[in-house]
Amino acid sequence: MYEKVKQFKGPLVFPDQQFTIIAGPCAVEDEEKLVELALFLKSHGITHLRAGAYKPRTSPYTFQGLEAKGLAILQRVKARTGIKIVTEIMDVNQIQTYVDNIDIIQVGARNMQNFALLKELGKIQKPILLKRGFGSTIEEWLYACEYLMNEGNDQIILCERGIKTFEPMTRNTLDISSVPIVKGITNLNVFVDPSHSSGRSDIVRPLARAAVAVGADGLMIEVHHNPALSLSDKDETIDFNEFVTLLKEVRTLATVMGKQIK
Ligand code: PEP
Ligand code: MN
Repeated sequence: MYEKVKQFKGPLVFPDQQFTIIAGPCAVEDEEKLVELALFLKSHGITHLRAGAYKPRTSPYTFQGLEAKGLAILQRVKARTGIKIVTEIMDVNQIQTYVDNIDIIQVGARNMQNFALLKELGKIQKPILLKRGFGSTIEEWLYACEYLMNEGNDQIILCERGIKTFEPMTRNTLDISSVPIVKGITNLNVFVDPSHSSGRSDIVRPLARAAVAVGADGLMIEVHHNPALSLSDKDETIDFNEFVTLLKEVRTLATVMGKQIK
C-alpha cells in the first residue's frame, strides 16, 4: 500500500488554507515576453511562473522547447522579477541543474511512471509537482507518489491533468472526482490543470471554477500574451484578460471554500 502517502502529516508545500495558482506559457519562448508575463502575474499576486524548457511532445517534429537555452532564460526571468520557477524535468541527469535553479520540479504525465527518475527525485529536498499520467488510475498515481516519499522527499504536489477517454470534444477528460478521492486519502496538496485537461481555452475558466468547488488546493494554468502565437498548446492557452477574469472568479469561490488565494 501507499502508506507514506496516507500517513503524511506535513508540512505542506502550500499551506492548507491557501489556494495557489501556478501559471505561464506552455513553453519558454521569448525572454522579454516572459519577463512581461512574470510581472503581470506578480502584479496579480501570483508567486509561481511555470514554463517548459524541455517539452515532452507527442510528435518529434513539433517544437521541443528551447532546452538548455530555455532553462537559462528561466533563471534570468527569476533574477529579473523575483518570481519563483516551476518547470518540467525529463531526465535523471538534469536533477542537479534543476536543484540549483528551479523552485518546484514538475514531473509530467508522460514521466509519472518513470520509476528511475522518481527514485532519484525522492532523494532531493525540492518540491515536486507530480502530474497524473493520462492513462493511469488514481492508485497508480499514488504509488508513483509513494516512490518519491519512500526515498525521503515528501514535498509533493499532486496535479490532476485529465485522462484519455473516448470523448473527442476535449483533449483529455478532467477526472474531477479524483480530487476529493485523493484528498480523502492523503493530506498532500492536490492541484488541477484545466488547460491540459480540456485542450480548449473556452472551457478552462469553468473547469477552474469546478476545481475550486471540489476542494482543490490550487491550479496550473497556461497563459500567454497572445495564445495564437504560442509555439505549443495554443488551443488551450488563455490570454491575460481571460486570466484576470478567471482569477476574479476563483478568488470569490476560494473564499467560499475557506481558502485564501495566492
Ligand atoms: C505541461 O504541463 O506542459 C505538460 C506537458 O503537461 P502533461 O505532462 O500533463 O501533459
Ligand atoms: Mn502545455
